[in-house]
Amino acid sequence: MDNCIFCKIARGEIPSKKLYEDEEIVGFHDINPQAPVHFMLMPKKHLASLSDATNDDVNVLGRILALTGRLAREQGSPDGYRTIINTGRIGRQDVMHLHVHVIGGPEPLGRMLPKSL
Ligand code: AMP
Ligand code: ZN
Repeated sequence: MDNCIFCKIARGEIPSKKLYEDEEIVGFHDINPQAPVHFMLMPKKHLASLSDATNDDVNVLGRILALTGRLAREQGSPDGYRTIINTGRIGRQDVMHLHVHVIGGPEPLGRMLPKSL
């Protein structure tokens, strides 16, 4: 996808702070971190959102989830973390290239959602 900012990150065309890369996955730090540890893992292949995933994507999505523990520990979240996948308008997804947020740090995070929800 020519105009997708995360495809450009995956191709190395715009700078990012990468912390993981293999043939089909990139991990990089969020530019606007919400906690001491906040990075994202995404498939290199453009997939707009989780709601567009099919059986073809099961392997890479499973591999992404299976990477989160080791990478979170390495990045300074030793005792758990939160994974978030914002999806579409209702999920307030801003960048339409499927990505998994991994958020944590040395201390527990706030509530999962604001009480008003
Ligand atoms: P989402 O609402 O799940 O689509 O979140 C998009 C996330 O991407 C936000 O947390 C942004 O801070 C982050 N982001 C946007 N542009 C960049 C970039 N160039 N490098 C790293 N993170 C980015
Ligand atoms: Zn993309």
